[in-house]
Amino acid sequence: MNEQLKVGETGSEWPQVAMGLREVKARMAVAALAAGRRAGGVMLVAVSKTYPASAIRTAALCGQRDFGENYVQEACEKQAMLTDLQLVWHFIGPIQSNKTREIATHFDWVHGVEREKIARRLSEQRPTSKPALNVCLQVNISGEASKSGVAPDALDALAAQVEGLPGLKLRGLMAIPDPGDNPQSGFRQMRALLEELNTKGHALDTLSMGMSGDFETAIAEGATIIRVGSAIFGKRSGKKFYAT
Ligand SMILES: *Cc1c(COP(=O)(O)O)cnc(C)c1O
Repeated sequence: MNEQLKVGETGSEWPQVAMGLREVKARMAVAALAAGRRAGGVMLVAVSKTYPASAIRTAALCGQRDFGENYVQEACEKQAMLTDLQLVWHFIGPIQSNKTREIATHFDWVHGVEREKIARRLSEQRPTSKPALNVCLQVNISGEASKSGVAPDALDALAAQVEGLPGLKLRGLMAIPDPGDNPQSGFRQMRALLEELNTKGHALDTLSMGMSGDFETAIAEGATIIRVGSAIFGKRSGKKFYAT
């Protein structure tokens, strides 16, 4: 382990988080270089759902800035314990319309927008004291009716609607490929969709794709944001766990 990362010196209870973060960062750099990309060109969102504020603090002390959460109440409780840190919060879970106000107030990014109604509420409820909320549209690349996300042929219209909302800044696309699918073909499809939208006049710079099991493949296919949880924090137990 590198001398710069003596976990005991931070008083941390989470040495495995420091180790996991270093390992994921190194794997990201290797994957980027293998794809002919700059090693620092991919943003890591550390998915801290179910892990307590103390684990997030450890990651922050190791230099991690962006964190992803799926549940609004859990996220807000942890954020309240970390107000002394300058962190960037990404909402990556399903968005219920009765939660949009809290999401618009407490997050910097929302990755799973798939309906105009939700986008409009987020825009209206974004505090005017804050910059526009960064938004990605979730795409249903597996094509199953039951899956969440926008159908690829409806993306252009939804993108145009979101771009018209003053409280939001449309950044790009997000996907969660089906575990059974070949992730590489899904990621490749996502990149093609982003390029297609940009040739139609949109100006999108973000592909949010890749998790613990497939982030290297996602980087090879052009991901600009990966969302990684268990490879950093450890395997999540089934039950919610976020007491400090
Ligand atoms: C939980 C979650 C992740 C992280 O998953 P890991 O497999 O733990 O890396 C990424 N994206 C979304 C949308 C998630 O819900």
